[in-house]
Amino acid sequence: MTVSDDTRTSTVDAVVIGAGFSGLYMLHKLRDRMGLTVRVFEAGSGVGGTWYWNRYPGARSDSDSYVYGFTFDEQLWREWEWSERYPEQHEIRAYLEHVADRFDLNKDITFDTRVTGATFDEADNSWTVTTDKGQTISARYLITAVGALSVSNLPDFPGRDSFQGETYHTGHWPHEGVDFTGKGVGVIGTGASAVQAIPLIAKEASDLTVFQRTANYVIPANNGPVPEEIRQARLGNYAGIRERIQQSYFGFELDLLEKGALESTDEEIYSELMPRWEEGGFGIWLGSYVDMFFDDDANAKVRNFLHDRIREKVKDPETAELLIPKGYPFGVKRNPLDSGYYETFNEPHVHLVDVKSNPIAAVTPTGLRLEDGATFEFDAIVYATGFDAMTGPMNKIDIRGRGGQLLGEKWADGPRTYLGLTSAGFPNLFTITGPQSPSVLSNMPVSIEQHVDLVATIIGEVRDRGAATVEPTKEAEDAWVVHNAELVKPTLFETADTWYMGANIPGKPRVFMPHLSFVGPYRAKCDEIVANDYEGFVFDTGRQGALA
Ligand code: NAP
Repeated sequence: MTVSDDTRTSTVDAVVIGAGFSGLYMLHKLRDRMGLTVRVFEAGSGVGGTWYWNRYPGARSDSDSYVYGFTFDEQLWREWEWSERYPEQHEIRAYLEHVADRFDLNKDITFDTRVTGATFDEADNSWTVTTDKGQTISARYLITAVGALSVSNLPDFPGRDSFQGETYHTGHWPHEGVDFTGKGVGVIGTGASAVQAIPLIAKEASDLTVFQRTANYVIPANNGPVPEEIRQARLGNYAGIRERIQQSYFGFELDLLEKGALESTDEEIYSELMPRWEEGGFGIWLGSYVDMFFDDDANAKVRNFLHDRIREKVKDPETAELLIPKGYPFGVKRNPLDSGYYETFNEPHVHLVDVKSNPIAAVTPTGLRLEDGATFEFDAIVYATGFDAMTGPMNKIDIRGRGGQLLGEKWADGPRTYLGLTSAGFPNLFTITGPQSPSVLSNMPVSIEQHVDLVATIIGEVRDRGAATVEPTKEAEDAWVVHNAELVKPTLFETADTWYMGANIPGKPRVFMPHLSFVGPYRAKCDEIVANDYEGFVFDTGRQGALA
């Protein structure tokens, strides 16, 4: 069945929301491998998802490029050549456009269209999906491929809209770029987006003030071209790399050390960590001491090493002390990778302001005012203030399951899912890299491929059984929620105010949202569930309705 863009009411087998990594592969899988009719809705004017919107200066992935892509097609993996160790935003977008062209995906994507609601019709066992362009479309299956970090967080400072200069948010950057040459700029936030943008904004701005609430542990990226011999070795090892990242903890070729930091002397710790620091990337986080995630004394040993590195890089001791994270352990927040972040604060026109002890009180027509009355004037304010993560993108859509239940209401005290993929009372609804899946604690494309493959397997099973719906039992979901809570309990993750915990959004329930068994064990668990006759899922033959 073909559905043209201008059809206002139509029927397909599956609707997919979003055309980033997840949506593109889901479309390919369902349409080309399984023969389903699929319509993808995408709010942007092109493919790319997070990489379509996040165009701020310096935006690039923090995963090594050779593992930051699809591996389901060996030829695709081989034919795309990344120019640097970490791919930059425009290159990732070009890659995803290439994927869309290669598999002829665009013809089934409706761009510039946001899905506003989706209601499950119990009489018909179908989803009715509505868009902001007035379309209504029915589908047996609904797959949300909306990303974990796609709803921007714009703090509600008093007077926010009164500012008469330019205002930007890193997550919705103007496509034509921004020229800060000669301007006075204020940046709010010091997360991964800010860490990437600040060195480049500082190169143009005449004056830059960074407003920091919580300092981050920033690790060197050590970006640059990948030496040809390494590139060739990787090209010769497609199957091995694929297998290793799929079975790994985090979706990278990184292994945790067997010996703990607690059992190691300071000298041993230094000689383990220094090569990782110099190598750059996540080795010092996801490829070092496992006990630092559980034991604050172990963590302190790693923290001390990192504090010394910050003091080495930042010339002014007061600024260095302010940039040294305090009050939470290393590794329980996503560590930004930098290219000259700390060194930027050695520039005379770059200033750091602590807004933890003296918060932002208001935005004024000319800049910002802090609680102690200090004022700052700018030509431009950049909000690098992050996202309403994980549940935010789902809750933004009016998704109603059995009995008209709103997903956002069901999740009012935190997400409730089975495998981070499905939710009881919401039949045939699947979420790619949703809350309570490893998702954001992994190299995303690896998790995305696994999720898409699993969703396709479950949908295939619905068809093979001649069923109308599949959904998890309440018991399976309850057990998964408890399991998630138990996994995080012995760790230090809950001790920090992070977006993993929903702590960055006022009023959001404080619940740890990612799943902590990690990529390989999570995959094994999913495989076991499938092998065990889809344990925890109910297939219902129900009334087939119009959508057989
Ligand atoms: P983020 O990590 O949530 O950082 C937001 C920053 O804004 C934090 O420093 C936060 O302070 C600050 N902030 C928020 N509200 C504030 C307020 N009312 N007053 C003062 N400061 C405020 O967001 P992000 O930098 O956009 O990164 C989000 C995630 O996206 C990352 O963790 C990462 O997973 C992903 N990302 C990845 C890359 C990459 O692949 N290289 C790049 C960018 C982003 P607090 O910490 O005190 O809340």
